[in-house]
Order: sequence, then C-alpha cells, then structure tokens
Amino acid sequence: MTALYGVVGNPIAHSLSPFIHQGWMREHGIDAEYLPIQVAEGELERTLAELTDRGYQGLNITMPHKREALRLAATATTRAQSIGAANTLWREGDRWHADNTDAPGFQHGLARAFGDLDVDRDLHVPDEPALVVGAGGAALAVAYTFGDDNQATTFCNRTVANAEQLVSVYDAIYAGNPARFRNVAGMEALPALLKNCAFVVNATSLGHMGQSLDWPEGCGRLVYDLSYGKAADIFLAPARDAGWQTVDGLRMLVAQAAFSFRRWFGVKPDIEATLVRVREVVETA
Ligand code: NAP
Repeated sequence: MTALYGVVGNPIAHSLSPFIHQGWMREHGIDAEYLPIQVAEGELERTLAELTDRGYQGLNITMPHKREALRLAATATTRAQSIGAANTLWREGDRWHADNTDAPGFQHGLARAFGDLDVDRDLHVPDEPALVVGAGGAALAVAYTFGDDNQATTFCNRTVANAEQLVSVYDAIYAGNPARFRNVAGMEALPALLKNCAFVVNATSLGHMGQSLDWPEGCGRLVYDLSYGKAADIFLAPARDAGWQTVDGLRMLVAQAAFSFRRWFGVKPDIEATLVRVREVVETA
C-alpha cells in the first residue's frame, strides 16, 4: 500500500518540498506519496488526528505550525526541544514524534559555503563574532547551531526584545560555553556591526519585501542569506557589489529535507544533484 507523507503549512502552494521528496521517493523506489497540505493556524491538532486516521506516516511542518507541532508530539529530539519548534514528524501507532532538521540543514549549508567559497572563517576579522540579522523562527535554528559550535555571535534585530528572548533561551541551554551570545542589538547598530563582524547570516524576511541592507566593504567576507529565489537575489545583489561573497538558503532547504527523508526512510538522498534540479525550478519560476 502506498505510504502517505506531506508538508503542512499555510500558505503551502509555493512549497518546493513535494518536488524534492517525490523525486527522492521515485529515485529510491519507495512506494509513497508526498503531498502539500494547507492547514490554517489553530487547526494543526485536528488535522494531525485526521492524518493519523488516513494513515499518514510522516510530515514536514512549516509556518505557522512549527511550535505547535512540537507541543503536540509525544516525544521530541533534544534538538527540537532546544529550538522550541519541529519541522519533521513521524508516526508510531497513534503517537507523533518530532525533530528539527532546519538546524543541521543550516549547518550543512554553512560548512559548504565556507568550503566551496574558500572563505577563511577567521581570515578577515579575527576574533570578531558572527552577525545574525533577525531573531524569528529561522534564527532559532541558527542560534542552536552556533551554540553547538561555540561560535561567538551577535544577534541584531528590528525588535530588540525578540533577540533578547532568543538569546536568553540559548544562554540557558549552552550555559557552559562562555563566548557566544552576549551581544544583542537593534538595527541602528547595524553599520558598525557589519564593518566588524567575521561573517553575516541574514535570517530576516527583508528580501521578500524587496529590501536589503546598506553594505560596507565586504573584503571577501561571507553573507549567508537563508532566503532563496527572488528574495535572496534582491537581498544579496548589493552585498556582492560591495565585495561580499554570497550564499543563498537553497542548500539549507534541500539539506533539511534530506535529513527528514533519512529520518523516515533510513536513506540519505543526494543533496548535490537535487540542489541543481531545485535551483533550475527556482530560477525558471
Ligand atoms: P519570521 O519568524 O517571520 O522572522 C522574520 C524576521 O525578519 C524577524 O527577525 C523580523 O524582525 C525580521 N523582519 C521582518 N520585517 C523586517 C523589516 N522590515 N526590517 C527588519 N527586520 C524585519 O520568519 P522566519 O521563518 O524566521 O524566516 C526568515 C527568513 O528565513 C525568510 O527569508 C525565510 O524564507 C528564510 N527561511 C529559510 C529556510 C530554508 O530552509 N532555507 C527555512 C526557514 C526560513 P522582528 O522580530 O522585529 O519582527
């Protein structure tokens, strides 16, 4: 019998996950379907019960349901609990279990960015922290990764209280690591922070709004934008013009999907080949 999988979110029609997962299911000869499932905010609990009845085995969870998915799961990985959100569920009997693969997806993208671009993490501004702009859902996965890596980090966000909240959560989790998340700032501090940081992660939705930042000279430093497609093009173009090396979030998207797929089926799909296919789709959209 064909096994059922899907991605739950709102909106969901734009999601690349069905394209990615259906491709891998075909490639690995897995008799399964992966469907987009639109679910309004507040409707996840009812939907999960319904999907259980219909025999769904696994789900990806996207905005706005990631926190609620963790709350509803019977068990969760330490990673998902630390991040406070789940993007991957799998079912055993009537119980759903949760993980968060955004963090290893981000980590994979960051490692490849430094490797592929041959950017030395410490070359340009030694001893300076990484700069994360943004403190929303995606920044949580970044914070988890940097906490794990003991990477000194400054969080700069429009609403400073949101950055403070994020940092206080992670300070508690990584209490043993002294270097990391001491610095929180508002957007007015951005010019000085951009000048002095080791590298930048953009975890804001600025590119989706047709905006970027005022970029100082990059001197070959890295900007890793978590968005992709047109949003990333808009955000990253002025940075590139100012001498930054730029990476978008498409690899993170494919990698987080690959970690979910491995969780469900025990096989790790080919991230590189998929990234080429997904980039073609994004560029022709
Ligand atoms: P979110 O929770 O809504 O957070 C949005 C962030 O952007 C917040 O920090 C918000 O600041 C900031 N922001 C929004 N409008 C702003 C403005 N006009 N000026 C300055 N800051 C502004 O969204 P998210 O889920 O974290 O997503 C953030 C980005 O990551 C998006 O581009 C998304 O596409 C991308 N993403 C990529 C992946 C991937 O797999 N590649 C996965 C998840 C997310 P406030 O706190 O002040 O509101």
